[in-house]
Amino acid sequence: MLAAYNYHEIRLPLFEETEVFARSVGVDTDIVSKEMYTFAERDGASLSLRPEATASVVRAYIEHSLFQQPGLTKLYYIGPMFRRERPQKGRYRQFHQLGAEALGPSDHPAIDAEVIEMVLVFIERCGLKATALYINSIGCGTCRPTYVELLRRELKKVESRLGPDSQRRIETNPLRVLDSKVEGEQPIIAKLPSILDHLCKACQEHFDKFQQELKDRGIGYEINHRLVRGLDYYMRTTFEITAPGLGAQDAICGGGRYDGLVELLGGPAGIKGIGWALGIDRFLLALSSQPSAVSAETSGPDVYLAWLGGPTRREALRLARALRQRNLRVEMAYDEAKLRKALELANKLGAQFTVILGEDELKQGKFTLREMASGKQHLLTESELFQRLTTKKH
Ligand code: AMP
Repeated sequence: MLAAYNYHEIRLPLFEETEVFARSVGVDTDIVSKEMYTFAERDGASLSLRPEATASVVRAYIEHSLFQQPGLTKLYYIGPMFRRERPQKGRYRQFHQLGAEALGPSDHPAIDAEVIEMVLVFIERCGLKATALYINSIGCGTCRPTYVELLRRELKKVESRLGPDSQRRIETNPLRVLDSKVEGEQPIIAKLPSILDHLCKACQEHFDKFQQELKDRGIGYEINHRLVRGLDYYMRTTFEITAPGLGAQDAICGGGRYDGLVELLGGPAGIKGIGWALGIDRFLLALSSQPSAVSAETSGPDVYLAWLGGPTRREALRLARALRQRNLRVEMAYDEAKLRKALELANKLGAQFTVILGEDELKQGKFTLREMASGKQHLLTESELFQRLTTKKH
């Protein structure tokens, strides 16, 4: 589906030099300061299991000079990520992400809207309903430092009323205080100045156009000025998608723009980027907490192949291969079984059809096709069987 948006898969290593993450994600972030699994190479080099993949994509983009490609380079990845976190529902130390990144010389707000459209279409096709999209702009190198200083000054005034984590962040990363989920801090945070009142002209224009691009695509959203995301490399657009039924960890996808990252990691200046990562584990949790998103019918085999009696085995093996070549999902017994047992198993597996091959069928060169829902049976030649099965397949 991502191919329809002209994205290509990139396969990334599970670990990188620690520097790749430290420089891009940021040394003061929780991910780098507390959550990475870091180990020393024999020569003393420091390596880390990847806590996220954007840094690796950018590293590969630079290493393989992908910036020489015309237009945007659009890449997606899928695989495990590792963070030393306290495990709980929807939060694991090894989890899986599907992610996409668009890199190139343009920062057109239509790119921001298109990557969001793509992930929303993906989510919708998988059948997950009632998700919500939150967006924000966190400014750029021109406007953000002034805002961060203002925020720091305001935070110092209320420091004694904040918890230890937020107190520490006043110095290290004041934006992250806005992310705090600590109950008692919420009324204090609600009164803090908003980044959206302090964007420079260029960032304001980008944010306005980005919203217009979402509207042009019929995408509903809500602005959340506290959505700063935990990683240093983000600028301007940030966004998050939440799903119902997940409790406290309800973010299934997060992303944003990272225009300076390619240069920061040693690539050419002027390359912009935007991307997202969808947490697959949480996404599946959300899907399974919603009634009948994946029906048993679609997850069972198309055909259960019941072969009855020694001489039928070879013919059954040949037929199974021929059916599988026609993209049918086929299950068959490894050992001989009685018809009643075979039908019972086919039912339990949720097979749509059972093909019965007994010695009588073998003699006639035919097959019995049983529709499992209705129990109707038909004696068919091989080509009739193929025709029925390939047209009846959902
Ligand atoms: P992040 O870039 O940290 O916001 O991660 C993007 C998405 O990955 C989140 O919205 C979650 O769905 C998922 N995710 C992040 N950390 C974890 C974790 N420890 N366990 C499971 N899913 C996670």
